[in-house]
Amino acid sequence: MSISVFELFKVGVGPSSSHTVGPMVAARQFVQDLDVAGQLRDTNRVQVHLYGSLALTGIGHGTDMAALMGLLGEAPDTIDVDTIDDKMATIEQDETLCLYGDHTIRFVPGRDLVFHNDEFLPQHANGMTCQAYQGDELLFERSYFSIGGGFVLSEEEFSQKEQIATLLPYDFSSAAQLMDLCEKHGWTIAELAMTNEKAFRSESEVKDALWHIWEVMDESIQRGCHQHGILPGGLKVRRRAAELYRELSKQSDEERRQGLTILDWVSLFALAVNEENAARGRIVTAPTNGAAGVIPAAIAYYVQFVHDPVQHGDLKDQVVKFMLTAGAIGMLFKKNASISAAEVGCQGEIGVACSMASAGLAAVQGGTNQQIENAAEIGMEHNLGLTCDPIGGLVQVPCIERNTMGAVKAINAARLALRGDGAHIVPLDSVIETMRQTGIDMQSKYKETSQGGLAVNAVNC
Ligand code: SF4
Repeated sequence: MSISVFELFKVGVGPSSSHTVGPMVAARQFVQDLDVAGQLRDTNRVQVHLYGSLALTGIGHGTDMAALMGLLGEAPDTIDVDTIDDKMATIEQDETLCLYGDHTIRFVPGRDLVFHNDEFLPQHANGMTCQAYQGDELLFERSYFSIGGGFVLSEEEFSQKEQIATLLPYDFSSAAQLMDLCEKHGWTIAELAMTNEKAFRSESEVKDALWHIWEVMDESIQRGCHQHGILPGGLKVRRRAAELYRELSKQSDEERRQGLTILDWVSLFALAVNEENAARGRIVTAPTNGAAGVIPAAIAYYVQFVHDPVQHGDLKDQVVKFMLTAGAIGMLFKKNASISAAEVGCQGEIGVACSMASAGLAAVQGGTNQQIENAAEIGMEHNLGLTCDPIGGLVQVPCIERNTMGAVKAINAARLALRGDGAHIVPLDSVIETMRQTGIDMQSKYKETSQGGLAVNAVNC
């Protein structure tokens, strides 16, 4: 259960939050648990079993790499992404792996990393089981579930997840409750979210940490704008952001702001981030990796084309307001539906990111709470039913381009909401519940298995 905005905005590594960040966290947790159990040094063999969607799209999503990096003790937010290829090559060549950076064992990836393509663990579509052996004797075993957005639950935590209590001083489990609390205290959504965050850290720490998140987002945009070549994975997808950046940079300031040119820039920001994600680079999981470009593109749009210090105030305060508002909306989806494509399809990734970005943009442009809720609702309503069908199991097609659509749709959703008075027919809670039900009804071939949709109809592109 989300209790902090920082659970929805996490510095991570590409290409997937559920299939890369989650498994890295899980494998690292396993070696930590093994160490705590006092059995790290008795272990001379480890096996990692990947089930369901983790097995079916694991290679394309970098799950193999993530699991091995986690066993080494690496974490998604701190790993030096430039060292990953060398680390993988060393494991494959030497057939050894240093567990938790402390205890070297023989490890043969083709033998010890097992993909169970036809088997799903009953609890969740993204399951993995890690086992530690001494010879043939099983010393320690634990299953983990990557439930979306880089969140990981152990088997025990998964069975208790409905009972996990939140520690929020102003807890809310629906948009209606959120709105009521804001109304009662005279707060904006961002103010309520900040009050909750202050249960864990000071206001200045919250602001600094959120600003740092934005800086990492911005760095991923900048890096993506200067990288050429073909993305890894075999689909031969050419990186487009750098060329587009070169073209757009020729414009004068006046030209940049003319008509629909701004949309080219918004698309550029999203492309840049998601090309970095596909290249296994450093990005912010927001709230997932597949959708990592939507919110940075929306914020960059605000920073570069909308923000007026006189009208809107300090930029840092505005970016913080954006993230707190977007985070509160993301919590509603996480709590009442899902942000896992393996559970609800792409509506849980691009759809949620779009809804969060719509709310954030409405907030920083002076929207009332009702207008913000309206923007969030519009942002999801027109993503309902969006399937997840990545070609080749890679987070590239349709994923990279889909982020441009999510960002542009968020801008439009915020504009539509701000043109109204906040009144609207479909409450945000209803659209979240509709998204959840639609996800349940969606066949599994459209839920991050690469067994349907574009993944089977465009295999030769
Ligand atoms: S299609 Fe959507 S949900 Fe599926 S991997 Fe791509 S971005 Fe993620």
